[in-house]
Amino acid sequence: MAQSSYHYDVIVIGAGHAGTEAAAAAARLGANTALLTTNLDTVGQMSCNPAIGGVAKGQIVREVDALGGLMGQAIDATGIQFRLLNCRKGPAMHSPRAQADKKAYQFHIKHQIEQQPNLDLRQETVMDLMTEEVDGVTRVCGVSVVGDAVFLAPTVILTTGTFLKAIMHTGKAQTEGGRAGEGTTTGISGALNRLGFQVERFKTGTPARLNAKSIDYSSLELQPGDDTPQPFSFLTEFLNASDQLPCHIAHTNDAVHELIRANLDRAPMYSGQINSTGPRYCPSIEDKVVRFADKNSHQLFLEPEGRNTNEVYVNGISTSLPRDVQDQMFRMIQGLENAQIMRYGYAVEYDFCPPTQLWPHMESKLVNGLFLAGQINGTTGYEEAAGQGLIAGMNAARKVVGKEPWVPTRDQAYIGVLVDDLVTAGTDEPYRMFTSRAEYRLLLRQDNADRRLTGAADELGLIDATRRTRFQAKLAQIELAQHLLKEARCEKIPGDVYLRRSEVDWAQMCERVEGLGQIEPQAAQQVLYDIKYEGYINRQKSEVEKQHRLASKRIPATFDYDRIGPLRHEAREKLNRVRPLNLDQAKRISGVTPADLALVLTHLEGKK
Ligand code: FAD
Repeated sequence: MAQSSYHYDVIVIGAGHAGTEAAAAAARLGANTALLTTNLDTVGQMSCNPAIGGVAKGQIVREVDALGGLMGQAIDATGIQFRLLNCRKGPAMHSPRAQADKKAYQFHIKHQIEQQPNLDLRQETVMDLMTEEVDGVTRVCGVSVVGDAVFLAPTVILTTGTFLKAIMHTGKAQTEGGRAGEGTTTGISGALNRLGFQVERFKTGTPARLNAKSIDYSSLELQPGDDTPQPFSFLTEFLNASDQLPCHIAHTNDAVHELIRANLDRAPMYSGQINSTGPRYCPSIEDKVVRFADKNSHQLFLEPEGRNTNEVYVNGISTSLPRDVQDQMFRMIQGLENAQIMRYGYAVEYDFCPPTQLWPHMESKLVNGLFLAGQINGTTGYEEAAGQGLIAGMNAARKVVGKEPWVPTRDQAYIGVLVDDLVTAGTDEPYRMFTSRAEYRLLLRQDNADRRLTGAADELGLIDATRRTRFQAKLAQIELAQHLLKEARCEKIPGDVYLRRSEVDWAQMCERVEGLGQIEPQAAQQVLYDIKYEGYINRQKSEVEKQHRLASKRIPATFDYDRIGPLRHEAREKLNRVRPLNLDQAKRISGVTPADLALVLTHLEGKK
């Protein structure tokens, strides 16, 4: 019998990027929430790259912020360099990215969590999941922790990242642990197996960190931040450009590639020591040398890990090669000849749960009340984890008070695309977000995340009065600008029609239309894009309507696919596994054909 027990509405296991957003969202909705994590000094820690955002990931951060989440404000407060990627392309591709002061970021997140009402942050290592059988249904009822105590709750969110049965590899050396300097978690994997979850293995890797004082920056290319850094959070008004630190660019060369090729048999990925799949789009340097054999150079970005540290992250050279090879590699690179490694690169293998075992609101199909979010679902990246965490946390809190789940749709948010892709198609390699995964990219822009989500977040109870007031003021500005343009006459035609002309820009309009110059820039940008891209946006909106018509054909959770005699075996098996909520989701299951869908529809409508 455990000595101590604590009662909550929602328990979140793991205070990484998913766990902190999950706990904060649940608490914002009023649920009495516990965030349990192995080490209070690693809350919100960046395991790998000290950066937030990037292509499609930056959009997710803006969405997390629009929904009242933590990540955007944390990176604005602690960023050391801000860049808007792809800014020469159209607005759908604009993606904010920032280097973080890694420690400052982590402390900022921890402090936000500590201040959040309804939320207790506690240093506890969870050993096991507790369940009970009620009317033939398996329900979660709490967790047991090291030190003879239990935490009881009707909902539990598992966000243990890369820590389940984790093994780190550097050459032949293997150490148990989910991140350098930390341990692993075995009990939870055991519990998942016991409860009938399918559990598989993935791997990821990280590069060495160098000491800045040993780098010859004079021979490297400088990469400064933007002249006008753009914040991630819709609440941040201004970032100081002169506060930014530069990054630098170095290059690998033939000699480095030759060295790697000569030592491939000592690389765990190639010696057979690691069999699991790694992130295709974030390959190790040994992978790059093998897969892109014709390339004789790869770019490396030297990114400072913070303002008060000499550690420099070498983006682009993630590796699990042995120490002696890592030492030699850097000596062959211009500018890094005398570079001193402070931490060696390594790969980590870990357990994850294929996400088709979840409903779109991140609750598991097998155990009522158990939610999974973040890297445990086969994703990679802080932003992907944060987005899932927010959805899981919000829906756990809603479940406690008997409310229906809420999940953004694919045309509403990248987070909607993310959860739908995961639960519908699963993933056979670590999943990261790309703009190409979204069919309605022009609707899902980073600049309009608040217009897409903050109204919904307000109805859900996720945002505070400051954000509401700010958002309403922006909407009022947008309305005012639209009105001014409509009423104005430029060369005898209405201002909004005149602005459609490709050669006309906002500055010109401000000269012609009285009052337009007073519109604040964020609102002006919305009005400009709405007008300039109206045709494309309307086309995407009409496709969205079609999709919604399919989505309105709901499939009951108890629908019996085995009743549909002519349904092909593959379709039956996949539909049974995913259990899509509607015809639109069913359509996206790979291997389910339009003919299969027609059969399902016929049976849904009771024609057979
Ligand atoms: P994490 O951030 O890992 O957080 C998990 C939390 O759970 C930790 O705080 C841990 O202490 C806690 N925890 C674990 N077990 C327990 C327990 N039993 N009880 C209580 N608390 C527990 N992403 C990329 O996008 N690109 C990369 O190149 C990349 N490389 C990576 C390299 C390495 C070596 C690692 C470790 C990760 C890498 N990642 C990379 C992934 C990135 O770190 C994760 O995607 C992200 O951190 C996932 O967030 P999360 O919240 O799911 O898990």
